[in-house]
Amino acid sequence: MRRGAAVSLRFESADQIGHATILSSPSREDALRAAREIAAAAVCLEKKDVPCGVCRACRKAFNKVHPDIVTVSRLPDKSGSLRREISVGQIRELTLDAQTLPNEAERKVYIIDEAELMNPNAQNAALKLLEEPPPRVVFLLCVSNPGLLLETVRSRCAVLNISGEEDGADEESRKLADAYLRAVRSGEPAQVYRWIAGNELNKVDATNRFLDAALQKTADMLCGREPAGALRREDLMRLWQLLDRCSDYLKVNVNPRHIFSLLMAESLRIGESE
Ligand SMILES: [Zn+2]
Repeated sequence: MRRGAAVSLRFESADQIGHATILSSPSREDALRAAREIAAAAVCLEKKDVPCGVCRACRKAFNKVHPDIVTVSRLPDKSGSLRREISVGQIRELTLDAQTLPNEAERKVYIIDEAELMNPNAQNAALKLLEEPPPRVVFLLCVSNPGLLLETVRSRCAVLNISGEEDGADEESRKLADAYLRAVRSGEPAQVYRWIAGNELNKVDATNRFLDAALQKTADMLCGREPAGALRREDLMRLWQLLDRCSDYLKVNVNPRHIFSLLMAESLRIGESE
């Protein structure tokens, strides 16, 4: 994992970990990965140079099964789509949990994924917690835009900037975009259906990176830098416009599932216009 290396975090001892840190990164995955690294350091069984990465606690942490590491993220609504916000109820639940002793580690860790999506009530509840943090608790707030957090919340936390990938598209997204474009380029609906069945994008960040990678590849095909298969120039233009439209929808918070449905419905029509 070449991206992992960029956010590798080590501490001389777990005592160096502050009680509240904002992990800011344009990439949600990078912020989460950094949070998991710090969480592992907080529960690692070694006394020095944590996380060791090999002890029982580290392994549980990296496998996301450590009972003292809790991740709070947006919950799905009745239709299965993610809600737009992290609610005050979720933060109250966290607050209650934070008052209880850790199960097996010396500390409890709470990772708040997309912390800037806490609504104002949730942020105020979080603020109370940050003002009087229970002992042995570590809060890690993952954000892509720290400016959306209340100033009062920000001022209670250390801020760690996690640098993103230079070109904004990671290996996984590039592979996904390659597979998608191969299916579209084949001109066979069955291949597109197979790709749909195998992939469903439901995370904003992953969808964004997939669209970026697919737009880049489509531009390469338009300029002749990559073979375009069965696709004619007008098909490529339609494809580019479709991906660009999806990208715009994502920016105005259209649910990735809807974007994915649109992308699929429209992809099937590309190349069939004779
Ligand atoms: Zn360890």
